Amino acid sequence: MKTDYKPRRIVIAGGGTAGWMTAAALAKTLGRTIELTLVESDVIGTVGVGESTIPPLVKYNQLTGIDEAEFMRETNATFKLGIEFENWKVDGEKYFHSFGATGRDHWSAGFQHFWMHGLANGHPQSFDDYCLELQAAYANKFAILPDNRMNYAYQLDATAYARFLRRKAEADGARRHEGKISRIELDGESGNIAALVMESGERIEGDLFIDCTGFRAMLIEGALHVGYDDWSHYLPNDRAIAVQTESVREPIPYTRAIAHEAGWQWRIPLQHRQGNGIVYCSRYMSEDEAEERLLSTVEGKTCSTPNRIRFVTGARRKQWYRNCVAVGLSSGFMEPLESTSIHLIQRAVLRIIRMMPFGDEISTRDIAEFNEQQLTDMDQIRDFLVLHYKVTERRDSPYWRQCADMEIPDSLAQKIELFRETGRVFRKNDELFAENSWVQVMLGQGITPQAYHPVATKMSQQELDHFLGTLRDGVKRTVAGLPEHHAFVKRYCGAQQAEAA
Ligand SMILES: Cc1cc2nc3c(=O)[nH]c(=O)nc-3n(C[C@H](O)[C@H](O)[C@H](O)COP(=O)(O)OP(=O)(O)OC[C@H]3O[C@@H](n4cnc5c(N)ncnc54)[C@H](O)[C@@H]3O)c2cc1C
Repeated sequence: MKTDYKPRRIVIAGGGTAGWMTAAALAKTLGRTIELTLVESDVIGTVGVGESTIPPLVKYNQLTGIDEAEFMRETNATFKLGIEFENWKVDGEKYFHSFGATGRDHWSAGFQHFWMHGLANGHPQSFDDYCLELQAAYANKFAILPDNRMNYAYQLDATAYARFLRRKAEADGARRHEGKISRIELDGESGNIAALVMESGERIEGDLFIDCTGFRAMLIEGALHVGYDDWSHYLPNDRAIAVQTESVREPIPYTRAIAHEAGWQWRIPLQHRQGNGIVYCSRYMSEDEAEERLLSTVEGKTCSTPNRIRFVTGARRKQWYRNCVAVGLSSGFMEPLESTSIHLIQRAVLRIIRMMPFGDEISTRDIAEFNEQQLTDMDQIRDFLVLHYKVTERRDSPYWRQCADMEIPDSLAQKIELFRETGRVFRKNDELFAENSWVQVMLGQGITPQAYHPVATKMSQQELDHFLGTLRDGVKRTVAGLPEHHAFVKRYCGAQQAEAA
C-alpha cells in the first residue's frame, strides 16, 4: 500500500472562471496535501462572459464552503428559475424551460402522461400551470423555500465572480503568479508537461497541469495536440457579441433567449446592470449586422463596449491527456444557450478531486475514466442543445431551414421519436437534464406526443379532477405567498445596500 505521499504540485494555467473555480475547490478540499499555483495574465484578461448558471452551482458553493449571501452580494447576483425561449418554435411564440419539476410523477410514468390524460378529460390548462418555478418566474417572485422546494441557480457578474473565487482560493492557500506564459516545456522522455515558461524567462514546474487558458488551449492543444471534434454541423453558431447595459427595471428571476433569423440573443438581469449578447452564425449574418441588431434591441444605455467573440462549437478529443487536464473553454464549447459551460467546469473540477493521483504516477485508468465521464456529459448536453434548433417550425430564413434539415446524432433522434410516439423520456445514467427539462423543451418546440401511458387512465374522473386540481391550486397558493424577487434579493444579498453601509 502506498503511504509516502508528498504534496503534489498543481499548476493552473489561466485565471478566468475556470481557473479560479478550479483553484477555489482544490484549495478548499485538498488543503496542504497540494502545492497550488495559478498563473494568469492581466494583459490578456478573461473572456468576460458566462453570467447565467444552472442549479448544480448551488451544490458547488456548498462543497467549497461558499456563503451564498456573500457570494451573491459580491457578484451582484440575482436568482434564476429558468430560461424563457422566445421565437424558437415560430416567430412570436414563447415557452419556458424551468428548473425543478412539473406536477407529480408516478414511478412508472412522468407527469406529462397525467397532464395529457387531463387535457382529454376536462383539464385544458397548460403544462406550465403545474410548475412552481415557472409560475414564480412569470410572477417575478422568489424565496428560498424549506426542503429545496424551489430549484434555482444564479445570474452573476462574471468578472466579479472570478475576483470573488480568487479571494477564497488565496485564503485557502493557492498562490497567484501574474505574467504571460510564452511557451510550454515538455519532458523529453515522458512527453509530459514539465513547466510553463514565462515571458520573464521564469519556469513554473508542476506534477499536474490544469489548462484553463480559455479558447487558446495553450497546454492541451498548443503543446499536446489532442485534437478537437468540430460540432458546427450540429451547432452552427460561431460568433457572439456581448454588451452590458444599465438596468431599466427591477431584475427578473430568469434569463431570456430570443431567437432571430440567424441565431439568438440573451438578456441576463443582474442587481446592478443587465448582460446582453447576440449569438449567430457568420454564414448568415455579418459582424456589423449582428452588432447593429444587438445595439438597436437592447434596453437601457450601454455601459461597456461591445465584445466580439469567435468560437467553433465542439469538444477537445481528450479532456485529460498525460499530466494535463483541460477545464473550461480550453476543453470545448457548445454555445451558451442552456448555460452549461460553468456547469461543465464544475463537473470537471469535482472529478479531478475525486481522481486526484496518489503518488508520482498518474493512473491511465483514472485518465480513461475522466475522459469517458466528461465526454459523455458533453455528448448529452450537445444533444439537448441541438434539440432547440432541429425541432422548430421556423422556415423563414436560410439559417432556420438549415437547422430543420440537418442530420442529428442517433441518440437525439431516438429521444425525439420516442417522445413523439409515446410521451416517454428516459434519463440516461447521470445525465444533467432531467425528464422535466426534455419534456418542457420538446413541448415548447412543438412536439405533441401521439399517446400517453395507460397508467394515467387508471384514475377515475373524480380522482383525476382532485389530483390535477390540487396540484394547480398548490402552485397558485405558493406563488401568491412568495415575496417579489427584487425585494428578496435586496434583503438577502443586496449589493447596493452593502456598499451604502
Ligand atoms: C458568448 C459566450 C457566452 C457565454 N455565456 C455563458 C453562460 O451564460 N453560462 C455559462 O455557464 N457559460 C457561458 N459561457 C462560457 C463561459 O464564459 C466560460 O465557460 C467561462 O467564462 C470560463 O472561461 P475560461 O476560464 O475557460 O476562459 P477565459 O475567461 O478566457 O480565461 C482564460 C484565462 O487564461 C489566461 N491566459 C490565456 N493565455 C495566457 C497566457 N499566454 N499567459 C498567461 N495567462 C493566459 C487569461 O489571462 C485568463 O485568465 C459563455 C461563453 C461565451 C463565448
